Amino acid sequence: MTRIFDDPARFADDALAGFAAAFPDHVTLVDGGVVRATAVPDGTVAVVTGGGSGHYPAFAGLVGTGLAAGAACGRIFASPSAGQVARVARAADTGGGILLTFGNYAGDVLHFGEAERELRAEGYDVRTVLVTDDVASGSIDQIGKRRGIGGSLAVYKIAGAAAERGDDLDTVERIAAHANARTRSLGVAVDGCTLPGADTPLFEVAAGTLSVGLGIHGEPGVADHAMPTASELAALLVEPLLAERPEGAGSRVAPIVNGLGTVKYEEMFLLFGRIRSLLVEAGLDVLDPEVGEFVTSLDMGGVSLSLVWVDDELLELWRAPCDAPAFRRGTVAARGPRTRPLRVEASAPDTAEAATPAAAALGDRVRAALETVRATIERHETALGDLDAIAGDGDHGIGMRRGAEAAARTARNLPAATGPGRVLSAAGAAWAEDAGGTSGALWGAGLRAAGASLGDADRLTGADLVAAASAFAAAITDLGKAEVGDKTMVDAIVPALARLTADVAAGAEFATAAREAASAATLAATATANLTPKLGRARPLAERSLGHPDPGATSFALICTALTAPSTPSKETA
Ligand code: ADP
Ligand code: MG
Repeated sequence: MTRIFDDPARFADDALAGFAAAFPDHVTLVDGGVVRATAVPDGTVAVVTGGGSGHYPAFAGLVGTGLAAGAACGRIFASPSAGQVARVARAADTGGGILLTFGNYAGDVLHFGEAERELRAEGYDVRTVLVTDDVASGSIDQIGKRRGIGGSLAVYKIAGAAAERGDDLDTVERIAAHANARTRSLGVAVDGCTLPGADTPLFEVAAGTLSVGLGIHGEPGVADHAMPTASELAALLVEPLLAERPEGAGSRVAPIVNGLGTVKYEEMFLLFGRIRSLLVEAGLDVLDPEVGEFVTSLDMGGVSLSLVWVDDELLELWRAPCDAPAFRRGTVAARGPRTRPLRVEASAPDTAEAATPAAAALGDRVRAALETVRATIERHETALGDLDAIAGDGDHGIGMRRGAEAAARTARNLPAATGPGRVLSAAGAAWAEDAGGTSGALWGAGLRAAGASLGDADRLTGADLVAAASAFAAAITDLGKAEVGDKTMVDAIVPALARLTADVAAGAEFATAAREAASAATLAATATANLTPKLGRARPLAERSLGHPDPGATSFALICTALTAPSTPSKETA
């Protein structure tokens, strides 16, 4: 159980605030996470990591000299928003560019991806290296689809050490990718974990059973075993990893035994002793091992083993001194407190002038449309959640409601004289910030792109609205990389856009074309029932989803239908 809290909904924020208060010489709390509290030489690459909370020491405990420059910290087990990532990255930046590195989870990929786009638009040089060390989460030919688990420590540590010695961004990026390519991990669990405030565990492992390859959020394992002895467990972890020795790896390995939450240190040391013997028997040089908690999963009972196949370069960086709250090595040169002012918000001042009355009237139509979206989602929240629970995690209804509410509220609170583009962009930013989840990142990016395309014109033609709809779709496919047939919202968006574009080009009234497009979206969303998901959280349980439409495609179609219903005032009637 996770028992100590005031308000479970604020658990992650309150824990982070207490953490920052406990390590004031190491970290400074910023809006969205933490950054180093110590001075960093100008031009140092900022290695920025992050992810959901509940995994301490990942991610905030790994911020410090010679390690990460900042960590964006989301809610428990939920990706930080793009806004959080961008704010932490700006605060961590010292002019040397930014390396975003984090575990390969759909929500994180989308939110960090959107932050990368945003930061680049502001002029930052930003690169991304995903951690994909979990051998249980995909076959070797699909290594890019694997999740990041305990081996993340090696990637962050090695990248942080490269940045610390003054390597440039190209080099830090190359080395981080190399460290990831040379790291393989496998995890096992004997017990689930319980979210703060919940009465029952998020997932369970049957008593007396060891689940092999179970993910750090309870993603299904690949095999179940009767509870083994320590020696058997060591073999169970070592053998699959040795079978995956990376191309070109020599015979030197740095092992990491990582506790997932409730395994005692003595148990881990005992296990490490057995693991070490097996590695030595296999003819390997065992160097610089780590045994402890590095990437946990609340109170989950389990361990993971990572093997980092080091070469001279990786070994030097793995051994380099560092000083983070939860990971220290050697002695780092004393550094004074940071003197650089914390910069969290984008630099571009808001220079928007008051919109003309005509543009403001269009802005009002966008506000009304967002209110229609909010009301529609509220009506269907439960149904969308139920649909997502069939093969996903059941949060599509609540995520869409959080997003749509934030969008409508933000739009409502803007000054009266705001044009349509700015209303839509601000609403999109608020949606992504509050919704969380994959769909939140995608809707946020789509609305912002549509807003940028609309601009604050006095008049919008059918062609302008088609261009905005295209920008919405393009942002979603750019960020999410889904294709038609993958069973996502893209399956409804693409045919709807095609219909809209063709009808408007053929001279149809925009309102009529939009109604036809909404029908196309509805038909296409229904047809997704015949598909199995190729992306997103539903992928591992793909066959369960057969016969049921995709939640994201369904919510998109519901929104289109509501926006184009003849009685509803909306931007489409502009
Ligand atoms: P999460 O999957 O993070 O729990 P939601 O449950 O809110 O987020 O949204 C799930 C929906 O997101 C899916 O039904 C699908 O339509 C959509 N989705 C997932 N991944 C992608 C992607 N890569 N591109 C487009 N849409 C996606
Ligand atoms: Mg979901």
